[in-house]
Amino acid sequence: MDDRQFRNAMGKFATGVTVVATEVEGSVHGMTANAFMSVSLSPKLVVVSISERAQMLEKINQSGKFSVNILSSSQQDLSMIFAGQQKNHQEVKFERLGEVPVLDGAVAQIACEVSAAHIEGDHTLFIGRVTDINIEDFEPLIYFSGKYRSLVEE
Ligand code: FAD
Ligand code: NAD
Repeated sequence: MDDRQFRNAMGKFATGVTVVATEVEGSVHGMTANAFMSVSLSPKLVVVSISERAQMLEKINQSGKFSVNILSSSQQDLSMIFAGQQKNHQEVKFERLGEVPVLDGAVAQIACEVSAAHIEGDHTLFIGRVTDINIEDFEPLIYFSGKYRSLVEE
């Protein structure tokens, strides 16, 4: 099986889009990620999967904390910025939730402390213990087959 077939298949799983953010020595780093999942209710755990090639890997290893910002339908530009697909952009302002930077306008902001890190293949799975949550009543951004979409009500 080649890489393209695998990616095409995984792209058929419609997801939301998140920006994972962390802060190291006063500098905030963000990265677009759709490999995000709820793991456990008691305790409250989530997981994000970060490529060994992403700068974010070392940043989270250093800070031990991160936020997951579930993007709203109006935040496609932020998804592209934090995936490195839009270079000439204005400065992105972050707010704070507890001890982590978060994005204003997200559907949900989830603050986490790293509770475990598992290296699996070419990614690291960071298990985050959820320390704080903020939810807004916005429509989510959707990602399917490499394209951005929005939800349509039946
Ligand atoms: P860089 O590539 O250096 O940074 C990412 C971009 O964010 C750069 O353009 C940088 O300028 C900008 N940026 C960072 N911090 C700030 C800041 N404070 N202010 C303004 N701009 C800033 N990869 C995974 O490992 N896991 C996934 O689950 C995943 N899901 C993805 C889902 C989608 C829909 C897309 C499009 C990409 C996904 N990627 C995922 C790929 C990942 O987003 C890119 O490879 C990304 O460029 C890796 O980021 P980096 O940490 O290496 O940092
Ligand atoms: P794509 O067709 O490469 O991605 C489709 C799906 O394949 C993604 O949603 C993801 O589920 C999976 N995938 C892609 N690259 C992967 C990787 N390196 N490791 C594990 N799973 C991967 O293309 P796209 O949707 O246009 O993505 C744009 C860019 O973002 C590509 O460079 C892609 O590699 C990267 N990306 C990485 C991940 C990830 O690392 N988990 C996830 C999504 C996108």
